[in-house]
Amino acid sequence: MVKLGIQVKCSLDNVTNLRPADPEDFGWCFTLKCPQCMEEHNKDVFISKSETCDIQGSRGTANFVMSCSFCKKHSSVDILENNAVYHLSDSEKFKTLMVADFRGIEPVAFKADGEWKCSSESSSKLFDIPDGAEMAKEGWYEYDEDAGCEVSVTEFETKIVKLK
Ligand SMILES: [Zn+2]
Repeated sequence: MVKLGIQVKCSLDNVTNLRPADPEDFGWCFTLKCPQCMEEHNKDVFISKSETCDIQGSRGTANFVMSCSFCKKHSSVDILENNAVYHLSDSEKFKTLMVADFRGIEPVAFKADGEWKCSSESSSKLFDIPDGAEMAKEGWYEYDEDAGCEVSVTEFETKIVKLK
């Protein structure tokens, strides 16, 4: 089992609990590379905990299956944990938000595409972040009317680490 952790680091301002809007249905977006022929796949894939796919040649299932378009190698991915949230106190530190078992395929990059949400640090307000890709690229800025302050998620970075 190759357990990989998807880590996020960002700067939160007056907000906390940054997480995918719906962890069960969230499509975690990856650029993949085949470890056998070393080809990088030019189409990003979305891997979701709610998906169940049959693994070819076995009775098992996985959250994601594919065969390399170059060398035909079969691979599959299972999401093991995806309920972590990024707190205000995690600001500017890398934190693992998702753990997955990648079998026969290597993720080279994680992208924040999809819907995210976060909560105000000083009021009960919840914020939707409709476009994670834009948040990662340009930052996300709002105004918390209940608390009377600006809120933002900026300096979004991701990395993928090997876990034991
Ligand atoms: Zn291949």
